[in-house]
Amino acid sequence: MTEVILKNVVKRFGRLEVVHGINLDIHNLEFVVFVGPSGCGKSTTLRMIAGLETISDGEIRIGDRVVNDVAPKDRDVAMVFQNYALYPHMNVFNNMAFGLKLRKTPKAEIEERVREAARILGLTDLLRRKPSELSGGQRQRVAMGRAIVRNPSVFLFDEPLSNLDAKLRNQMRTEIKRLHRNVASTIIYVTHDQVEAMTLADRIVVMRNGHIEQVGAPLELFQKPANTFVAGFIGSPP
Ligand code: ADP
Ligand code: MG
Repeated sequence: MTEVILKNVVKRFGRLEVVHGINLDIHNLEFVVFVGPSGCGKSTTLRMIAGLETISDGEIRIGDRVVNDVAPKDRDVAMVFQNYALYPHMNVFNNMAFGLKLRKTPKAEIEERVREAARILGLTDLLRRKPSELSGGQRQRVAMGRAIVRNPSVFLFDEPLSNLDAKLRNQMRTEIKRLHRNVASTIIYVTHDQVEAMTLADRIVVMRNGHIEQVGAPLELFQKPANTFVAGFIGSPP
């Protein structure tokens, strides 16, 4: 079963076209990483899948549905951003529970889902803490927890680690890998960090100037880059 399909997806902002008709099949449970230079259209593509941007042309399917006109909350996706604003006055539990409360989820179910997410993320002992009492990595985990409690079929990550230092990024990579095994969801992940892409991805999508240059397994791109751009991007860290 294929979970997310992009067919000739185009995005224009006014007269400026920034995504030029991209095609991609993302399989159920796959971990797909979008890489490419700043401004190439990675976030815009992710936001179109999330429903945070309309698409100007083409089609996006999630599961059995064309979701072009489906509201973000009804798409069975959850997004984790780089600038994960936690609510400073709420403890970890309530930060994770907030979205579920808005959806009028029964209290017992909220409790169960938050506890399960906390278990997956190693936050069980921190549920009563405020964000100000957490490290950067712990805060990022809470942000992931907010997505996990929604139990989506598809997780969308937009450079979730780029605000963390190198050591923490390393550690969180391992956690995200573990998260993928634990939640049994498809993950679509954006980064400009080659190491992140190489270590996390089942397949890497290399974007440039609003189109896809190459799609393949990390080793495949490394060994058989389609062109010098892909070779340069996958081969040499910045
Ligand atoms: P990336 O995430 O790869 O760095 P983006 O998807 O954020 O790139 O941006 C792709 C292009 O679209 C850039 O040229 C950016 O300036 C432009 N863009 C993004 N959002 C908007 C917007 N809301 N209005 C106009 N242009 C935008
Ligand atoms: Mg971006």
